Amino acid sequence: MHQLSNRVLNMEESQTIGMARKTRELAAKGINVIGLTLGEPDFNVPDFIKSAAIEAVEKDFSHYTPIAGYSDLREAICAKFKRDNGLDYSPNQIVASTGAKQSIANAVLALVNPGDEVIVPTPYWVSYTAIVDFAEGKSVFIPTTAEEGYKFTAEQLEASITAKTRVLLFSYPCNPSGAVYSDSELESIAAVIRKHPNVYVISDEIYELIRFDGKHRSFGSLPDMLDRTITVNGMSKGFAMTGWRLGYLGAPLEIAQACDKLQGQFTSAPNSIAQRAAIRALEADPSEVKYMVDAFEKRRKLMFDRLTKIPGFKMSLPGGAFYLFPNISFWLNRTLGGREIKSSNDLCMYLLEVAHVGLVSGEAFGSPDSIRISYAASETDLNEAMNRIEKALLPWL
Ligand code: PMP
Ligand code: GLU
Repeated sequence: MHQLSNRVLNMEESQTIGMARKTRELAAKGINVIGLTLGEPDFNVPDFIKSAAIEAVEKDFSHYTPIAGYSDLREAICAKFKRDNGLDYSPNQIVASTGAKQSIANAVLALVNPGDEVIVPTPYWVSYTAIVDFAEGKSVFIPTTAEEGYKFTAEQLEASITAKTRVLLFSYPCNPSGAVYSDSELESIAAVIRKHPNVYVISDEIYELIRFDGKHRSFGSLPDMLDRTITVNGMSKGFAMTGWRLGYLGAPLEIAQACDKLQGQFTSAPNSIAQRAAIRALEADPSEVKYMVDAFEKRRKLMFDRLTKIPGFKMSLPGGAFYLFPNISFWLNRTLGGREIKSSNDLCMYLLEVAHVGLVSGEAFGSPDSIRISYAASETDLNEAMNRIEKALLPWL
């Protein structure tokens, strides 16, 4: 028995990754499982981005890069922030990292002291609370409901702020709910932040491009908010570059410098080849990758139409990302095929083991009455997954 640190023992495995692993284990046994677990586009990296990576290999971009990323990558990120989001960052305010996950970890570790409070609206993305715990901060949750479209309000935010609050951490479009905020909702959140000068916002905008109606508005572009916001984005979702591991943030200078210092001790810089490829991707017009968004929009409709036909799946049509997050409390405390279903975790295990469809339980996201279904999969797989879910649930109504 090897003795591990309390820091690691107290940390939970990422449940999105855990369910994806369980799904793969069943598949390895020869079972035909459909995995709708991981939030990962099923598309491959577009050719114009791949060719930039191939050129980078051939041109020997093989050495350590500056910690925060090549200066021309940081310039490309600034130009993107300006062009798409109206954000005025200079290259020394940008830190590129090994995925947006590392950007978020850097930002939290740069801002949060032990005992500081981080406001996390629920449902939240799995890793937020693990990262806050790691920084020895305290997550303070704002509950939201399916009926309200899983959005928190300015009033709820105001009521959650204390003298210890350091950060509001949220994503929009939201993983897992797909919720997006209108400009006026964002304005009212900003009005609360304006009143509390010690509070920063980590605005996780990684699903910016996967938005089906309305235009994305960056939190930092609201009046007075640039100096109060850490804007996180990355290549994983909009450009289908999950495995290339490149995310980035824009932040007030001292915060960016702190992230640079942290990263310099932990990982040095992100991968050099992915950085060169990201420059090509970010310089392109976002319309180059719209074909993926169009496909996600079609699948959203397919899945929403089919799921709302099953009794007890309550949700509104999400405005972005590639997840549906129905409230399934109707299906709890029932016996399905001889199994007692007490929690959304039990329901996910039932659907995995009986229907052979991998989903993630809402518990992972702080919403124990829901389940998350990623529809970043082919229409054939989505239809088959729905057939299987219906077959596993409907007989027990
Ligand atoms: N934020 C959110 C909301 C996410 O869903 C993810 C990954 N799915 C990330 C951050 C991290 O993305 P990556 O590290 O792949 O850039
Ligand atoms: N973030 C994606 C998800 O929510 C990928 C897995 C992870 O990084 O947790 O499924």
